[in-house]
Amino acid sequence: MLFDVSTAVTEQLHDELFIEKGISVSVLRLDRIHPVISGNKLFKLHYFLEEAIRSAHRTIVTFGGAYSNHLAATAYACGALGLKSIGIVRGEESATLSHTLLQCRKDGMQLKFISRTAYAAAATSPSLPGEHGECLVIPEGGYHPMGARGAALIMNLVDTSHTHICTALGTATTLAGLALHAKPHQQLIGIPVVKEMNDLDERIKELTGFTTMPAAVECWTGYHFGGYAKKNEALIHFINQCWQQYRLPLDFVYTAKMFYAVTDQAKKNHFPPGSRILCLHTGGLQGNGSLPPNTLAF
Ligand SMILES: *Cc1c(COP(=O)(O)O)cnc(C)c1O
Repeated sequence: MLFDVSTAVTEQLHDELFIEKGISVSVLRLDRIHPVISGNKLFKLHYFLEEAIRSAHRTIVTFGGAYSNHLAATAYACGALGLKSIGIVRGEESATLSHTLLQCRKDGMQLKFISRTAYAAAATSPSLPGEHGECLVIPEGGYHPMGARGAALIMNLVDTSHTHICTALGTATTLAGLALHAKPHQQLIGIPVVKEMNDLDERIKELTGFTTMPAAVECWTGYHFGGYAKKNEALIHFINQCWQQYRLPLDFVYTAKMFYAVTDQAKKNHFPPGSRILCLHTGGLQGNGSLPPNTLAF
């Protein structure tokens, strides 16, 4: 790895509910790698960064919204590795930049703002828009087979005794990566944080090169709380409860929805007794900075 990932430990959570159901629930703390380049983003970027270092393409171009964990991670990683980075940001530049974009600038990222329409066309196209010249383009969220291969490196940190591995789903690149390296007895569960995730099969196939959807991949819709970055009081309460009970800091966009789903499904007896469940803490805590002060207990 290009960064030290030894702080990404697995912690078991102690809870009456899990004891009662005869299951063990642990969290792989990818968020502990680094406050900004934390979680799954570092892994998804891995092979792009290696490629940029190896080749003459020292400038990385990528895409994101005003609170994008992916932009934040890319800016930081490029800064630390001596690579130039350009962030194409969705929407017009506002008078006050988000805390995320300010941090991107501090890390040396050049920001370019484009209209939402132009963004939609550019962000998911892997082909290089001419105006960027000699650059390595990373699609939004690292959605690319190379991003999935990087995410597969997360499995090097996963003990083979785990029977279920759960992760939040945005572009599904992380889940695809897990599918590349999972053992046959490991069930993979993705929890979409967006309302419309109707093309998961196509995504997994495109990202992995598999011709059929792996049987071990499962998707739990119904935990998006109204859509991307939407939240309600129950979710905020849940985050604060997890902090008080386990000292586990969750982000409201991704990991809180994932862990809420796992807890809910544990209550509903989804996991057979003896299950050893691993939840990926995919990071993203910088995103909590968009919440009003004192919303969270940490
Ligand atoms: C980006 C992100 C995800 C989603 O990952 P995908 O590979 O796009 O599915 C999950 N959790 C966090 C914290 C993220 O920032």
